[in-house]
Amino acid sequence: MEKGMLLYEGKAKKVYATDDPEELIVSYKDDATAFNGQKRGTIEGKGAINNRMSNALMQLLEREGIPTHYLRELNERETLVRRVRIVPLEVIVRNLSAGSFAKRYGVEEGIPFCAPTIEFSYKNDALGDPLLNGYHVVALSLATPAELETIKRYSFQINDVLKAFWASCGVTLVDFKLEFGRLPDGSIVLADEISPDTCRLWDSRTGKKLDKDRFRRDLGGVEDAYREIMDRLTQKLEAAE
Ligand code: UDP
Repeated sequence: MEKGMLLYEGKAKKVYATDDPEELIVSYKDDATAFNGQKRGTIEGKGAINNRMSNALMQLLEREGIPTHYLRELNERETLVRRVRIVPLEVIVRNLSAGSFAKRYGVEEGIPFCAPTIEFSYKNDALGDPLLNGYHVVALSLATPAELETIKRYSFQINDVLKAFWASCGVTLVDFKLEFGRLPDGSIVLADEISPDTCRLWDSRTGKKLDKDRFRRDLGGVEDAYREIMDRLTQKLEAAE
């Protein structure tokens, strides 16, 4: 597969064209940003970890019947994906209070919910990714009502699969962000990535944070945490083979 022109460079990934107009190459960087790009840094080894973790989790989800953009891992940090038109929403699913939820509603972090929650924000850096409800999503024509229903259904299914998988690794899936895209036929598939950049993952026994909050909050041990969470996943997958 020939890597073509650089189409897009984001905060953590680059996207290249290929000789097939329906396929793209995603290349994961070690760059990290937080707070809408105000905090910047590098997490050594992150690109390779996020690439491999995201691919492993997307393959797990595919086996559970969730369609994704994943096609094939090309090397340590590059993956072939299906070209989609991204739905400009960040879909956040939460199992426990944390982050902006805890702040917004004035509650402690780590309170388990009796049922998972979902929220949307409008992917728009200039506006600071404002929160949206489902009516706003439809009013702004960001997704149709039918697409929104599909996105919600997939998101909760994804939560069920990932929560159980991480629990089997001794990790609590606190919350995560998903992005979806449309294939040329209009169908919705999971896109973007699932990694410690986009999930909160806490050691189930000690509560130790094994995700990007170590970078956001200057907790130290960022590289070690990424390696530790990747090791947990690798051991689980190898045991399952
Ligand atoms: N998240 C993300 N990208 C964003 C915002 C949030 O991947 O632009 C993830 C984040 O890692 C966490 C979840 O979504 O796992 C919920 O994040 P929250 O809304 O609490 O925002 P934060 O506290 O990270 O600003």
